[in-house]
Amino acid sequence: MFFPDKADTMHEYSIIQSLIATCARVAREHDVKKIVKVHITVGRMSGVDPHFLETSYRFFREETVCQHAEIVVKTEETEAMCQDCRKIFAVRNFCFNCPECGSQKARVTKGKTLQVTHIEAE
Ligand SMILES: [Zn+2]
Repeated sequence: MFFPDKADTMHEYSIIQSLIATCARVAREHDVKKIVKVHITVGRMSGVDPHFLETSYRFFREETVCQHAEIVVKTEETEAMCQDCRKIFAVRNFCFNCPECGSQKARVTKGKTLQVTHIEAE
Protein backbone atom coordinates (compact mmCIF):
# COMPACT_ATOMS: atom_id res chain seq x y z
CA MET A 1 0.00 0.00 0.00
CA PHE A 2 1.24 3.41 -0.94
CA PHE A 3 0.89 6.21 1.57
CA PRO A 4 1.57 9.58 0.04
CA ASP A 5 3.13 12.31 2.12
CA LYS A 6 1.27 15.53 2.70
CA ALA A 7 2.48 17.33 -0.43
CA ASP A 8 1.33 14.44 -2.61
CA THR A 9 -1.99 14.39 -0.84
CA MET A 10 -2.52 18.04 -1.71
CA HIS A 11 -1.65 17.18 -5.29
CA GLU A 12 -4.41 14.55 -5.48
CA TYR A 13 -6.92 16.89 -3.84
CA SER A 14 -6.30 19.62 -6.38
CA ILE A 15 -6.71 17.06 -9.18
CA ILE A 16 -10.07 16.02 -7.74
CA GLN A 17 -11.15 19.62 -7.42
CA SER A 18 -10.36 20.34 -11.04
CA LEU A 19 -12.03 17.07 -12.07
CA ILE A 20 -15.23 18.08 -10.30
CA ALA A 21 -14.97 21.59 -11.77
CA THR A 22 -14.73 20.04 -15.25
CA CYS A 23 -17.87 17.98 -14.57
CA ALA A 24 -19.71 21.05 -13.28
CA ARG A 25 -18.80 22.99 -16.42
CA VAL A 26 -19.88 20.13 -18.71
CA ALA A 27 -23.15 19.76 -16.79
CA ARG A 28 -23.83 23.48 -17.15
CA GLU A 29 -22.96 23.62 -20.83
CA HIS A 30 -25.09 20.59 -21.71
CA ASP A 31 -27.93 21.24 -19.34
CA VAL A 32 -27.38 17.97 -17.52
CA LYS A 33 -29.26 17.12 -14.35
CA LYS A 34 -27.21 14.26 -13.10
CA ILE A 35 -23.77 12.95 -13.81
CA VAL A 36 -23.69 9.17 -13.62
CA LYS A 37 -20.11 8.19 -14.32
CA VAL A 38 -16.78 9.89 -14.76
CA HIS A 39 -14.06 8.12 -16.69
CA ILE A 40 -10.52 9.18 -16.03
CA THR A 41 -7.24 7.94 -17.45
CA VAL A 42 -4.27 7.87 -15.12
CA GLY A 43 -0.86 7.11 -16.55
CA ARG A 44 1.62 5.06 -14.56
CA MET A 45 4.07 7.93 -14.94
CA SER A 46 1.60 10.65 -14.00
CA GLY A 47 2.68 10.60 -10.37
CA VAL A 48 -0.86 9.92 -9.20
CA ASP A 49 -1.93 6.85 -7.29
CA PRO A 50 -5.19 5.60 -8.89
CA HIS A 51 -6.56 4.04 -5.69
CA PHE A 52 -5.89 7.13 -3.68
CA LEU A 53 -7.50 9.22 -6.39
CA GLU A 54 -10.67 7.11 -6.18
CA THR A 55 -10.78 7.40 -2.41
CA SER A 56 -10.35 11.17 -2.43
CA TYR A 57 -12.93 11.48 -5.17
CA ARG A 58 -15.56 9.63 -3.09
CA PHE A 59 -14.90 12.04 -0.28
CA PHE A 60 -14.93 15.23 -2.32
CA ARG A 61 -17.92 14.49 -4.56
CA GLU A 62 -20.37 15.03 -1.70
CA GLU A 63 -22.68 17.95 -2.39
CA THR A 64 -21.24 18.57 -5.83
CA VAL A 65 -22.57 17.81 -9.30
CA CYS A 66 -20.69 14.49 -9.01
CA GLN A 67 -22.49 13.42 -5.87
CA HIS A 68 -24.07 10.35 -7.49
CA ALA A 69 -21.40 9.72 -10.10
CA GLU A 70 -19.13 6.72 -9.93
CA ILE A 71 -15.54 7.14 -10.99
CA VAL A 72 -13.95 4.71 -13.43
CA VAL A 73 -10.18 4.86 -13.46
CA LYS A 74 -8.34 3.47 -16.44
CA THR A 75 -4.63 2.95 -15.97
CA GLU A 76 -2.38 3.80 -18.86
CA GLU A 77 0.72 1.65 -19.10
CA THR A 78 4.05 3.25 -19.81
CA GLU A 79 5.57 3.13 -23.26
CA ALA A 80 8.86 4.54 -24.43
CA MET A 81 10.65 4.99 -27.71
CA CYS A 82 14.33 4.20 -28.12
CA GLN A 83 16.19 7.26 -29.38
CA ASP A 84 18.76 5.07 -31.11
CA CYS A 85 16.78 2.41 -32.98
CA ARG A 86 13.29 4.00 -32.72
CA LYS A 87 11.71 0.91 -31.23
CA ILE A 88 8.62 1.55 -29.13
CA PHE A 89 8.43 -0.73 -26.12
CA ALA A 90 6.42 -1.28 -22.96
CA VAL A 91 8.19 -0.10 -19.82
CA ARG A 92 7.99 -2.49 -16.89
CA ASN A 93 9.26 -1.76 -13.39
CA PHE A 94 10.70 1.54 -14.56
CA CYS A 95 13.20 -0.21 -16.77
CA PHE A 96 13.93 2.07 -19.71
CA ASN A 97 16.56 -0.05 -21.43
CA CYS A 98 15.68 -0.75 -25.04
CA PRO A 99 14.89 -4.47 -25.44
CA GLU A 100 16.05 -4.31 -29.07
CA CYS A 101 19.47 -2.65 -28.94
CA GLY A 102 20.08 -2.18 -25.21
CA SER A 103 20.30 1.60 -25.46
CA GLN A 104 19.38 3.61 -22.39
CA LYS A 105 18.29 6.62 -24.39
CA ALA A 106 14.56 6.17 -24.31
CA ARG A 107 11.88 8.81 -24.26
CA VAL A 108 8.50 8.26 -22.61
CA THR A 109 5.76 8.33 -25.26
CA LYS A 110 2.85 7.12 -23.16
CA GLY A 111 1.99 6.93 -19.46
CA LYS A 112 1.91 10.56 -18.38
CA THR A 113 -1.76 11.07 -19.15
CA LEU A 114 -4.00 12.44 -16.47
CA GLN A 115 -7.35 13.45 -17.85
CA VAL A 116 -11.08 13.02 -17.84
CA THR A 117 -11.82 10.98 -20.94
CA HIS A 118 -15.57 10.59 -20.78
CA ILE A 119 -18.51 11.81 -18.70
CA GLU A 120 -21.79 9.92 -18.63
CA ALA A 121 -24.85 11.94 -17.76
CA GLU A 122 -28.60 11.87 -17.89
ZN1 LIG B 1 16.95 0.60 -29.28
